Amino acid sequence: MEAATTEQDHPPVEGVSSFAKSLFLGEIHEEIVFPYPLPDPGEQDKIRALTGSLREWAEDYDPYEVEEKRWIGDGNIKTLGERGILGLYIPEEYGGQGLSQMGYCRVSEVFAQIDATLSVIMGVHQSIGMKGIHLFGTDDQKGRFLPDLASGRKLAAFALTEPNAGSDVHGMETVAEKQADGSWRLDGVKHYIGNGSKADVLVTFAKTGERHTAFILEKGMKGLEVGHRFDTMGLLGNDLRRLEFKGIRVPPENVLGEPGDGFKIAMHILNTGRLSLGTGSVGGAKRLLDLTIDHVRERKQFGIPLADFELVQDKVGWMVSYLFGLESMAYLTPALVDMGVPDYSLESAICKVSGTEFLWYAANRALQLKGGAGYMKDEPYEKTLRDIRIFPIFEGANDVMRAFIALTGMKPLGEELEGFSDISWNDPIGTIGVLADYVGGRAQRAVRPDSITMAHPELKSLSDPLTDQVKRLRDVSEGLLRKHGKEIMVRQFQQKRLADAVSDIYAQIAVLSRVSSIYAEHGVEPSGQEHYIAETFCTRAAQRVNGQLDQVEHNDDERMIAISKLAYKRGEYGYAFFED
Ligand SMILES: Cc1cc2nc3c(=O)[nH]c(=O)nc-3n(C[C@H](O)[C@H](O)[C@H](O)COP(=O)(O)OP(=O)(O)OC[C@H]3O[C@@H](n4cnc5c(N)ncnc54)[C@H](O)[C@@H]3O)c2cc1C
Repeated sequence: MEAATTEQDHPPVEGVSSFAKSLFLGEIHEEIVFPYPLPDPGEQDKIRALTGSLREWAEDYDPYEVEEKRWIGDGNIKTLGERGILGLYIPEEYGGQGLSQMGYCRVSEVFAQIDATLSVIMGVHQSIGMKGIHLFGTDDQKGRFLPDLASGRKLAAFALTEPNAGSDVHGMETVAEKQADGSWRLDGVKHYIGNGSKADVLVTFAKTGERHTAFILEKGMKGLEVGHRFDTMGLLGNDLRRLEFKGIRVPPENVLGEPGDGFKIAMHILNTGRLSLGTGSVGGAKRLLDLTIDHVRERKQFGIPLADFELVQDKVGWMVSYLFGLESMAYLTPALVDMGVPDYSLESAICKVSGTEFLWYAANRALQLKGGAGYMKDEPYEKTLRDIRIFPIFEGANDVMRAFIALTGMKPLGEELEGFSDISWNDPIGTIGVLADYVGGRAQRAVRPDSITMAHPELKSLSDPLTDQVKRLRDVSEGLLRKHGKEIMVRQFQQKRLADAVSDIYAQIAVLSRVSSIYAEHGVEPSGQEHYIAETFCTRAAQRVNGQLDQVEHNDDERMIAISKLAYKRGEYGYAFFED
């Protein structure tokens, strides 16, 4: 058991709006992330009881039956509701469990260990579906909707995506017009909406003039038509639908938040939704790793267990050490929310990108080690790969998230540097610039140390190099801003490097914080394994950071651009070595 720290150990940090944004300014606000935050012992007991109950329920859950029936089953929703698992973060006064964001993520990690489809259905309901009502609802709206949603009597959905507005959701075409009687008329189409025909309560978004407004729709509203179900590659139990809004009349009491604040509300919901994609990836990877360890110890080839081959150890060692790093940052991030850090948008995007990509590669390596058997449908790998392939695409495609991380991170730096005030962060790639504007505004400055002093002294050899990495991140970002000016908005190769560098810096700091807390709880000697894994993760992560920042100067970006343009011009690959 690691040291339990509570919110009291982390008083709100004056003058700092975002830990990760500060890294771009060359600052390490270690007081935010040390000591490693954990729920208080009372909440830990509650989490254990809920995860135990969920695992007990899962003994009778059959993911293949869910695929075959194309739905998890209303009975299962009811039972999960009765077990208190559908309103995890909802306050007790509305019938929920009142868990912190970290507690919510910890319980919902178990969904992902059981089945990706279950995790997505639950995620649509809790992480994004009802989240807006919890965060932005009036007392009346909370009273009307949350008790039914928390108990499983009703199910929620989140309807944002449209056929012409996927990554660029700011460009949505659904419109809402205010009527003389104060109600709103909604017209438009949403698609790829999870829990589409099952949901009783749908939070959606529409253009209202130049801005956007969020609305709560209810099943049965006139003009709300459920369209066809999409035939998906994976997540076959997820009821993915097209929804048509044909002049739906929404009463004023179903407007969520202030009219005009809809885009901000959508982004806020997705910022928290991404947190559980990070911790869900941790859950999925743990399961794959456990399966892999069992298999390679058991299976013999060439007279020895697969486990003894170096290239098998390479894969397993990578999985364990990266999982430790990912887990450390994926759980640090919801704790930032619980601490009241105003802006965690970068950190949640980092966890989403790192988590979903690690899970994908881990699943491929797990299948590889299972050999031909891994390719068979009676093993879980085929279904896992089909199910998780969408993770790097939905809730913000990872390419867009990388641009978002870099541009949002550089924004305070651009504002601070003289001569850059004319950069319009909204121009030219609308949505990403707009996103940067919506998430917390200017990074407020405060006096801070730029080295890590709060890590355990035994970790000094790992914490010292972070000073250089953070300084380099700032210098390189500043150099790029000076070189490209507002053109930085389209320099996606460079954005990707900065995004990947800051992700690995953040992950190292999370690992150091976690291991320092483990030392404080257990002492250094008994924590040798954690030290060894932390050392491995941090050493590799530091190499990746420096590699990414080196490539800012030394790269073949221009060649990639030229070759892709040639391909567009040729309209095909077309380099036959002899004519067909
Ligand atoms: C199984 C599933 C469940 C879903 N559930 C929901 C839901 O419940 N509610 C909801 O509202 N939506 C949902 N979606 C929609 C999902 O969020 C979108 O599919 C996603 O946001 C991507 O939008 P798009 O499909 O239009 O792709 P596009 O926006 O067309 O993007 C395609 C690809 O282009 C690249 N790309 C796009 N923009 C950029 C850029 N600026 N820079 C670099 N590369 C870029 C990325 O690689 C991206 O993956 C779901 C989708 C699926 C398939």
